Amino acid sequence: MAYECKVYDKNGKLKKILRESQLTNASKEFFNQPSTKKVRSLINSFKEPPIEENTDTKFYNKICVVCKKEFHPRHPNSKYCSHECQKKLYLEKKKMKTNRLKK
Ligand SMILES: [Zn+2]
Repeated sequence: MAYECKVYDKNGKLKKILRESQLTNASKEFFNQPSTKKVRSLINSFKEPPIEENTDTKFYNKICVVCKKEFHPRHPNSKYCSHECQKKLYLEKKKMKTNRLKK
């Protein structure tokens, strides 16, 4: 059996053509497998695993303590809609502390 194996990069550009003579023993064995089912499962194992959707992930309706906007955090304990808001509150608290110290 004569065949070519074309290798493309991720942009669809042809990178190289592997001819039978260039194949390693391992890949020859692979291509000569009688069972297409086996080959298919092998090919599938090369693919990236599908992104597992985490069905346990729940989003909560919360109001940001800083900007009062509604947001949907993954954790029920989240208080801020964003890191910016978290930082803002942190800086305000810091300022309050230093103000208190001054008095
Ligand atoms: Zn916010």
